[in-house]
Amino acid sequence: MAKVIPFKKPRAKKLGLCQFNHHKWAIDKASYFDSKQGRLVNRYLCIHCGKSKISLS
Ligand SMILES: [Zn+2]
Repeated sequence: MAKVIPFKKPRAKKLGLCQFNHHKWAIDKASYFDSKQGRLVNRYLCIHCGKSKISLS
C-alpha cells in the first residue's frame, strides 16, 4: 500500500493590514537625488511585506 504523504500547502503569510494596502512604511536610507526632476526622492519600505514606494519631497 502506497504511503500517502500529506501535501502541505504553503500558508498565506500573515500580512496584517498590508493586504488592505495599509503598509507600515519605514524610510529607506538609500534616498537619492533625481536629477531629472531635480528633487530628492525618498524611498520607503514596508517593514512587513517588503513593498517599496517612493515619494518626492
Ligand atoms: Zn506591507
